[in-house]
Amino acid sequence: MKTTILGIGSLLLCSNVMAATVFHVGKLIDGISDGPRAKMTVVVEEGRIVKVAPGYLKTSDGDTLVNLKDKTLLPGFIDMHVHLAYTPSRQSYMEPFTLDPTDHALRGALFAKQTLEAGFTTVRDLGDAGNSVIALRNAIDKGYLPGPRIFAAGTALATTGGHADPTNGRNQALRQDPGPKQGVINNPEDAFKAVRQRYKDGSDVIKLTATGGVLSVAKSGDNPQFRDEELKAVVAAAKDYGFKVAVHAHGKEGMRRAIEAGVNSIEHGTYMDDALYPLMKQHGTWYVPTLTAGAYVAEMAAIEGFYPEVVRPKAARIGPKIINTFGKAYAAGVPIAFGTDAGVFPHGDNAREFALMVKAGMPEMEAIKSATVNAATLLGAEDQLGSISEGRYADMVVVEGDPLENIAVLEQPFQVYKGGSVVYQF
Ligand SMILES: [Zn+2]
Repeated sequence: MKTTILGIGSLLLCSNVMAATVFHVGKLIDGISDGPRAKMTVVVEEGRIVKVAPGYLKTSDGDTLVNLKDKTLLPGFIDMHVHLAYTPSRQSYMEPFTLDPTDHALRGALFAKQTLEAGFTTVRDLGDAGNSVIALRNAIDKGYLPGPRIFAAGTALATTGGHADPTNGRNQALRQDPGPKQGVINNPEDAFKAVRQRYKDGSDVIKLTATGGVLSVAKSGDNPQFRDEELKAVVAAAKDYGFKVAVHAHGKEGMRRAIEAGVNSIEHGTYMDDALYPLMKQHGTWYVPTLTAGAYVAEMAAIEGFYPEVVRPKAARIGPKIINTFGKAYAAGVPIAFGTDAGVFPHGDNAREFALMVKAGMPEMEAIKSATVNAATLLGAEDQLGSISEGRYADMVVVEGDPLENIAVLEQPFQVYKGGSVVYQF
């Protein structure tokens, strides 16, 4: 047995090569089962879960025993909607003029660490500046930096003047006419070029903005911004390259077009209604609600000068609506995957989403599953991530107390493991 310990700042990475780590777990919430299981053993070897068994199994020579008999063990959480390149501040609207992609990537390293330490061992990053999060993902994968596993979109796709057109709100000299490379498309041919460019750039998923958005410097927060043929072209191109398509949408018409075009998830979904819930179910489209961001922007809209004047009324109007939509969508049986839009609010607060979901009527176990098996399924990685079961990465969160009694205990992990190594200890 060889044990290596690397100190990276306050972070301790331990890797036990060729020996098992045996966890005696008082309460196991495995991310898949409908109920918790008491007195369980979880065995981890070389970063993977190799055994989950009832009772407290004996250890063999050389094994490391971790006593969690008075704790709850859960799978590492998955946040399906973050922006590691961004953080909210009064200066954020100046950043396109002052920061380079390298600045975004290096600052994102801090946010990645904060996210991981909050128990989020995997995230889907839905839009950055200049592919900065693709570089961040690569650095984390190589072990240069601590952070979650990242499924990165790179730069998002929009139409001219749409939410995520990178030059919205600038003066004439700076507005220019960005195209597919920068993420702006205006016909099916552009759509193919943009998706192929993202394949070349190293994206894992395609993000597009089917309607107006809250934080863009533009008037409408919810109008449709893609035509059917453009959406269908993005989906067709994405299929060619094995990408899933995640769609930002607030307004109904843009959402309807996106669902019917066959996209994989609707993000935010603010004005989703009785006509759209069945359509979501029929097409197997996932809903990623981002309640924390909705609550945060509504709160910040009340502060004079925090957002530009064109943004402020949109934030005040759209932000508070999402939680009601979420409650109705859940009751209607729409499949839900956990996502927060962290970056719109400070990174590391991602777990606040759980309490908001429960407040809106989702049972605690369902909220947990939305961040484990459901999210992993939407990623297409349920055989690798999102549950404490054999063959999965040993990405795990330990909490004190019972999240099924008080969901807020998930906001302060006792320990976080990624690939079997401790990456955070309270
Ligand atoms: Zn977002």
